Amino acid sequence: MMDELSDLYQAVILDHYKHPRNWGRPDGVDRQAVGHNPLCGDRITVYLSLDGQTVRNVRVDGAGCAISVASASMMSEALEGRTLSEARALFDSFHRAVTSDGDVADVSDLGKLAVLAGVRKYPARVKCATLAWHTAHAALDSGDARVTTE
Ligand code: ZN
Repeated sequence: MMDELSDLYQAVILDHYKHPRNWGRPDGVDRQAVGHNPLCGDRITVYLSLDGQTVRNVRVDGAGCAISVASASMMSEALEGRTLSEARALFDSFHRAVTSDGDVADVSDLGKLAVLAGVRKYPARVKCATLAWHTAHAALDSGDARVTTE
């Protein structure tokens, strides 16, 4: 695991893993979804508070490997303050960046999320990196959802 992380901007990812941002179940929630990656055992719940069409608050709870927790933590920071359509667009950009083959992914609009694009070299880790995003996407689309990467 740590060998795989060696060229994945290890420091940034480990910082978010050890000190995940916006972590813990909040009091008031407008939308939420539960995500599970059975291949790795990652379990993430994403809670969203909305202000009209804007994501006001993102909270995450759960447990998983370093990639899944770091990705969820970074996602929570990236989504706050975005409109629902901006949040969906960011999901699409992120998903493309971590799943595309070769060098075709354009990560210029991802900001620091781009450090996670390195997982595309490790197919087994892609589901870890995308779990929180799939879960947030499901939360955006429905009041209460359950998703699995399988
Ligand atoms: Zn994982």
